[in-house]
Amino acid sequence: MLTNAPRGTKDIYGSYMNTWKKLEDTVNEICTNFGFNEIRTPIFEHTELFQRGVGETTDIVQKEMYSFTDKGDRNITLKPEGTAGVVRAYLERKMYADVQPTKLFYITPAFRYERPQAGRYRQFHQFGVELFGSDKPSADAEVIALAANMLKNLGITNVELHINSLGGPECRKKYNNTLKEFLSKNIDSLCPTCLERYEKNPLRILDCKNEKCREVLKDAPLAKDELDTECKEHFEELLRLLDAMEIEYTVDPWIVRGLDYYTRTVFEFISKDIGAQGTVCGGGRYDKLIEECGGSPTPAVGFGAGIERLIMTMEAINGSNQDKPTRDIYLGYVGENAKKTTFAIVNELRKNNISVETDLMSRSVKAQMKYANKIGARYSAIIGDNELEENSVRIKNMETREQIDLNIEEIVKYMKENKNFLD
Ligand code: ATP
Ligand code: MG
Repeated sequence: MLTNAPRGTKDIYGSYMNTWKKLEDTVNEICTNFGFNEIRTPIFEHTELFQRGVGETTDIVQKEMYSFTDKGDRNITLKPEGTAGVVRAYLERKMYADVQPTKLFYITPAFRYERPQAGRYRQFHQFGVELFGSDKPSADAEVIALAANMLKNLGITNVELHINSLGGPECRKKYNNTLKEFLSKNIDSLCPTCLERYEKNPLRILDCKNEKCREVLKDAPLAKDELDTECKEHFEELLRLLDAMEIEYTVDPWIVRGLDYYTRTVFEFISKDIGAQGTVCGGGRYDKLIEECGGSPTPAVGFGAGIERLIMTMEAINGSNQDKPTRDIYLGYVGENAKKTTFAIVNELRKNNISVETDLMSRSVKAQMKYANKIGARYSAIIGDNELEENSVRIKNMETREQIDLNIEEIVKYMKENKNFLD
């Protein structure tokens, strides 16, 4: 037990961490360029927020939540996704009173009690954006463009954008009825989960992977055929904007998304490189969500992307990010006198933002040089009694093998001069 992490969790370190940081840097840069600001909401919220905000009929709420009662008898849940907390903050902090739209992004851990497998964990991480306050297709286009640019900048090229419109609440209601009528003829062939969905949220049956259900669905009516004029025009304008930005897409009437409150646009970026769990990013418009969470009617559009799945895709394309960690200099020593001098210089180097390591293991000179190599130091030097006596130290360029002799007090100046050149 002590040395086993809980099932479905992961430690992030080493080359995986290198890729992770690259992803975070890219996300920060792109969101800033698009004018989205970061928000960090708590890891846990009142359970009710997710019941409302994610929806009672979803797999997440029905089966997957990490919920508990705290010592004050409150019902608490570790967040299973990023949107609900952001919606709560938008309302509680009255962000709607600021100039609209409100454009936010987050990077957060998320928790779902699922069967762990490739690309599916119990603690995973999501990057997501939320755009509140605009019902225009241009807002959908902006959010999709952000996702497309992010994937491109991460080098994730082998993904397809699948896009669909479910229509507004009226269209959805009409479509649910048409679908129910169609399914009623074959209701005995549906799996138990779909039987339940048939009553509560028939649309989600389109999402079922069960073969028998798929067979029944073959000739099912599709949401796109029930759109009213306004929803149709909204969707077409979005597609025109994507065309204008040269963002490729496939209109895919089978995309419905798991959450209950999607209206109109839904989309997924699907990777062909990482097997069955191929959705790296999914989102859409949810004009009813804020109302559902207790706010006044406010249109919203956004997406969530699984960071682990993005990294899987990056690694499938580029291999793992094995970049050796590098230091500007390894400054070692032998003997007690040299130790004090060395620590003083090392500290001075660090104050000057030069990355440096020294000996913490009382190693021999030979072993120190081996260590310097291993950490990828660009320069190395060792200070001993001789160097102190003659006030001269030999600095070695580890790449070119060139050496240069300096006075001890010149090390900091020399490294400052050579630092820019190192970056
Ligand atoms: P799936 O169909 O794979 O279960 P989902 O519909 O439950 O996905 P969302 O709720 O839309 O997924 O979450 C957004 C993104 O978070 C997904 O596209 C995926 O990349 C990622 N994700 C969801 N669940 C997990 C998990 N258990 N482990 C790792 N990543 C996940
Ligand atoms: Mg899921």
